[in-house]
Amino acid sequence: MKNKILAYLQENQEFVSGEAISNRLGISRAAVWKHINGLKESGYVIDAYPRKGYRLKEKPDILTAQALEEYITTKRIGRIIYHYEAIPSTNHQAKIHATEDAPEGTVVISEVQTAGKGRLGRKWESPSRKGIWMSIVLRPKIEPALVPKITQIAAAAMILAGQAMGFSFKVKWPNDIIYNEKKICGILTEMSGEMNRVYDVVLGIGVNVNQTLEDFPEDLREKASSIYMEAGLKINRQKLCANILNAFERLYDDFLTEGVGEEAIAICKEHSILIGKRIFITKGDTVFMAHVEDLNEQGELIVKKEDGTFESLISGEVSVRGEKGYLI
Ligand code: ADP
Repeated sequence: MKNKILAYLQENQEFVSGEAISNRLGISRAAVWKHINGLKESGYVIDAYPRKGYRLKEKPDILTAQALEEYITTKRIGRIIYHYEAIPSTNHQAKIHATEDAPEGTVVISEVQTAGKGRLGRKWESPSRKGIWMSIVLRPKIEPALVPKITQIAAAAMILAGQAMGFSFKVKWPNDIIYNEKKICGILTEMSGEMNRVYDVVLGIGVNVNQTLEDFPEDLREKASSIYMEAGLKINRQKLCANILNAFERLYDDFLTEGVGEEAIAICKEHSILIGKRIFITKGDTVFMAHVEDLNEQGELIVKKEDGTFESLISGEVSVRGEKGYLI
């Protein structure tokens, strides 16, 4: 009902009376008043005058289902959204929902993560309302060996979502998105299953959207940034978030039906920041240098080592660094 009142207020730029809302939606005026108060509590600014009625003045900068509704065009990804003001980690919370049988496409979003996670137990900085901190529950009927491809599909979705808003992002294989040589997004894919069966996959996407320099701890300022800092304009988080989900669903469905994810891999390859560069690769305790040749159909990075031999890298097992620093 709250959504219907909101839609009605949005349709009418001018004041609408409580009576008109109550007639149109078939609820009492007391109920209208209660729902309007609910909307105000969620951050909507609504003018209310005795004889004139109500007028929507300002929408909040939050990532609730209600706020995203306007932009989402998906069938199942993001059709159920659990929105939190603050939780330790969206991946952790999504795993809880997954074990409670949340259907594929269930999304967890938090305005702030108090213990956001990166790969290998690293920390992910997620300040309040400055970014998109979300995780998607997936239930692909695929071999566990194909799960790393989902990271590539998410990376490709980030590229498309950026393009839709006029930004040209790049992929630092396997799980970082780069804008103007800075890391603006990280992807964390976690799977639960058996040797040959996937129960569920939790896909975490953290995007630095509207942070300023002060929002980053000093040790991150050189390698990380936000879209706002790079583009010089404030970004509509709701639109960007919906664009990511929209693009992801299309590429993911293509992957599920074709089993290849050809388009996603092609996008990652075209926008790769590593192909053609010399990089350091860390695999367990060993570090070696190699030249990046290609991204293959499986989403593996093909590198040529110093001794002239080739190796294909699987995303779960390695970290890559530039010759001198994070990128180059
Ligand atoms: P990498 O892919 O760089 O090996 P991860 O994907 O595991 O690393 O991400 C975690 C790392 O990213 C952290 O150790 C930190 O250096 C960096 N980091 C943490 N928070 C952010 C952020 N909000 N934006 C960009 N980088 C971050």
